[in-house]
Amino acid sequence: MKLKNNIKSTRFKTTLWYSGLFLLLEVTIGLTVYLYLKQSLETDLNHSLSKQADMIYNFVEESKVDLSSFEPDSVYSSPDELVYDLIFEAVALNPRNSYVQVELNDKMLFKTQNLVDQNIPFPNISQDKIVIRDIQNNNLSDYPIRVAYLKKNNYEITVAYPSHLIDDTLGSLTEIYIIIAPLFFILSILGGSFISAGALSRMDKITKKTDEITTKNLNEKIPGEEFNDEYGRLALTMNRMIKRIKTSLDYMNQFSIAASHELKTPLTILRGEIEVTLRHPKVSEQYREILKSNYEEVLRLINIVDRLFLISRFDNDRVSVNKKRVNLYSYLEKTLGALEYLSSEKNNPLELEIEDNIEVELDPDLMLQVFTNLIDNAIKYGYEDEPIKVKACRQNNKIKIAVINRGEGIPSEDTSRIFDRFYRVESSRSRKTGGTGLGLSIVNSIIKLHNGEIHVISEPGKETEFYFLLDSPVNH
Ligand code: ADP
Repeated sequence: MKLKNNIKSTRFKTTLWYSGLFLLLEVTIGLTVYLYLKQSLETDLNHSLSKQADMIYNFVEESKVDLSSFEPDSVYSSPDELVYDLIFEAVALNPRNSYVQVELNDKMLFKTQNLVDQNIPFPNISQDKIVIRDIQNNNLSDYPIRVAYLKKNNYEITVAYPSHLIDDTLGSLTEIYIIIAPLFFILSILGGSFISAGALSRMDKITKKTDEITTKNLNEKIPGEEFNDEYGRLALTMNRMIKRIKTSLDYMNQFSIAASHELKTPLTILRGEIEVTLRHPKVSEQYREILKSNYEEVLRLINIVDRLFLISRFDNDRVSVNKKRVNLYSYLEKTLGALEYLSSEKNNPLELEIEDNIEVELDPDLMLQVFTNLIDNAIKYGYEDEPIKVKACRQNNKIKIAVINRGEGIPSEDTSRIFDRFYRVESSRSRKTGGTGLGLSIVNSIIKLHNGEIHVISEPGKETEFYFLLDSPVNH
């Protein structure tokens, strides 16, 4: 199992891939060098044989000695000695131990000592030409011999060299290569494995730590985010993800704590009332009173559950907006009419101030919820006998709608938080307003679904204004 995992690991694959690549490169370079060297050694040999033959001819030619009618004298007893002197430079100084023959009119004038009693037959070739051939002469060598033949002015010059010496050179090279190449290959495997192990051990650390992270230790971090490379970025991205999960989880925890707290209050009241009622029998009027109070708490519970349900639908994007184009005056007049019943409790008449002919696109049902919550708050937290104003006007390219009341208002330190779920200003908590702290959060979500934003301006003891801006509909 471990072996199977090792074989599947990126480390193994990377090492295998690079080593394979290296091997391919090694073989390609080896082959190229071999072929190039073979080619250049052959060219070099051909070139030097031709050059030597040419030089020999030039030496005998330039000497102007008439070799065809050689007569022995006190200096040279044979033409061989004379020719040797003439071509000394071309033969003795030649680094290669080549075979040389010089013939004139088919008569052998000179041949090097290494030919002893051998002759290399001169083929029938055209004048002034150098011909290069490989011949097999077992008396001279077991291997082929490379020969350059030059025929010029009755001279026949032969220069030869055993071509297997090239193969010997290449053979030595191949031997060295065969020893060195596997060494390099093994080194490349070890090096590749070492390098990838170094890089991938960081990956292993990330995997191990990620495996350890649960909801209990979301404060911990994946190591290595300080490095500015792929692994560093991976660690950073994962840490950001963990942070997001932690925020959501914290939020869900707070939400469930707050929700159970809110649900607990009416349930505790209900339980208390029922317990007291059951302790002693009561007259029917008393039962009526208790049931009335029970009923109010049940309504409060239903209200909380409804709102929680609505909020969870917002959170899961399950609320669809069905916008309709409406005349704002008609819409508001109808909506405020429907909410008139709220105003009687503390004598707060609803007043509408609106510019003419404003058209707007909104979801009438969702917006009814917005106005219900805002007007309900304005009444709950406002002074008695004061009107509640709903104002609507055009502002730049938008439509501004505001709900204004006079009352104690909202302290400036609370204004940024009143749209949070379950947040209630301290003074409202103690007061028996029956709030849940969810109303403005719902309002905020609905306005956002209409691409708007809600704001509050409050002067404690004077006016509190909640306003939002909606897009003006585009005229087609
Ligand atoms: P609640 O159910 O408590 O009314 P909301 O989310 O509707 O919850 O409001 C949050 C808090 O904002 C309220 O508890 C109250 O303290 C404050 N608030 C809202 N509207 C007004 C207002 N018109 N005047 C003063 N305070 C307000």
